[in-house]
Amino acid sequence: MSQILVLNCGSSSIKYELFDMTGPVSVASGLVERIGEEDSRVTHHVDGVSHVVDGPLADHRAGLAAMNEAFTTTRPIPDGALVAVGHRVVHGGDRFAAPALIDDVVLEAIRDCIPLAPLHNPANLLGIEVAMQANPDIPHVAVFDTAFHQTMSQAAYRYAIDRDTADEHRVRKYGFHGTSHAFVSRTAAAHLGLDERSARIITLHLGNGASACAVRGGRSVDTSMGLTPLAGLVMGTRSGDIDPGAMIHLLRMGMSVDDLDTLLNRSSGLKGLCGDNDLREVHRRAAAGDEVARSALDVYVHRIRAYLGAYLVELGGADAVVFTAGVGENDPQVRAAVCAGLQSLGIEIDETVNSGVRGPLGPVDVATPDSRVRVLVVPTDEELEIATSTLATIN
Ligand code: AMP
Repeated sequence: MSQILVLNCGSSSIKYELFDMTGPVSVASGLVERIGEEDSRVTHHVDGVSHVVDGPLADHRAGLAAMNEAFTTTRPIPDGALVAVGHRVVHGGDRFAAPALIDDVVLEAIRDCIPLAPLHNPANLLGIEVAMQANPDIPHVAVFDTAFHQTMSQAAYRYAIDRDTADEHRVRKYGFHGTSHAFVSRTAAAHLGLDERSARIITLHLGNGASACAVRGGRSVDTSMGLTPLAGLVMGTRSGDIDPGAMIHLLRMGMSVDDLDTLLNRSSGLKGLCGDNDLREVHRRAAAGDEVARSALDVYVHRIRAYLGAYLVELGGADAVVFTAGVGENDPQVRAAVCAGLQSLGIEIDETVNSGVRGPLGPVDVATPDSRVRVLVVPTDEELEIATSTLATIN
């Protein structure tokens, strides 16, 4: 039996999932949250049952120990079964185009990317260091959100600002959600029997965070997020694209850098537009005649369609459009609105099939038989993708 533990460490949380790679199947998963506070909690799911343990956890070391305790008291990991730990790392800059076996050089390179992701990389690093101390005898692998997009051409990733300034501060498009775009594009190509070397696929990862990606032959050629995960689509609480001049304007109007950070990351997107970031609530309000909610939906869909159009041109057409993540997998209305009126571009959704697809059903084709471009709903599984990449890396 070879098992892989996937860890996704945030500043006050550890999300984890254990896979048996002979399936591969998920064995157990869970979340350690509110680390460093009095009311920390471990929620551990195994064999269809959720186990909750409350009590203060001072730091990530205590958090990992609590996770291990949850395994031990429910279904212990057999001796020798765990062959590696895969760590999600948000930013690999331009240093990593693939997952990396973690050693001192890799740790230093991840540290070197902290200025590019000051909120995420320090927490990811802390998780790696604590987990390596707890499990020193097995390999640890870093899997980067940015790596999949390292195949973008300069034309796609370079911002049109002074070249020296851009290069000095490493300001360029990196892109994120790479494990998800890689996983769903590969799954879609396999499901449709497309030639992996030439398939043109546009993936729409629509969750609380959201991004679009143009994939040709299994390689990312463009994506909507940028230097940071703020660019591109309208998200739950993040703005997506905005004229950079608006930032200068707001700074001149007296906002501080921290105010701007909060505005763009926490008080924007659907939340900023209408006060709710959950699309279920936005739909409910719109259906009840709430014009503010209605117009928030319009902005949300308009932006997705703008990227869809751009990527259809970049790829010279598409074999498939893929919807994934919380909204993409569960929201037939958004899928229908994104694809509305695109018959002349070869995209046509079957309303009846589409309206029945909610939840993790596996890949489902919701296009009409005549639609030249297939429209798929593919449940994403970033943890499984990290486990698979980890196994490939240690082998
Ligand atoms: P994620 O970040 O992928 O977990 O997606 C979370 C988001 O998915 C939520 O904030 C909701 O906006 C959206 N979502 C989840 N379930 C549904 C649903 N049944 N219908 C519409 N949106 C949903």
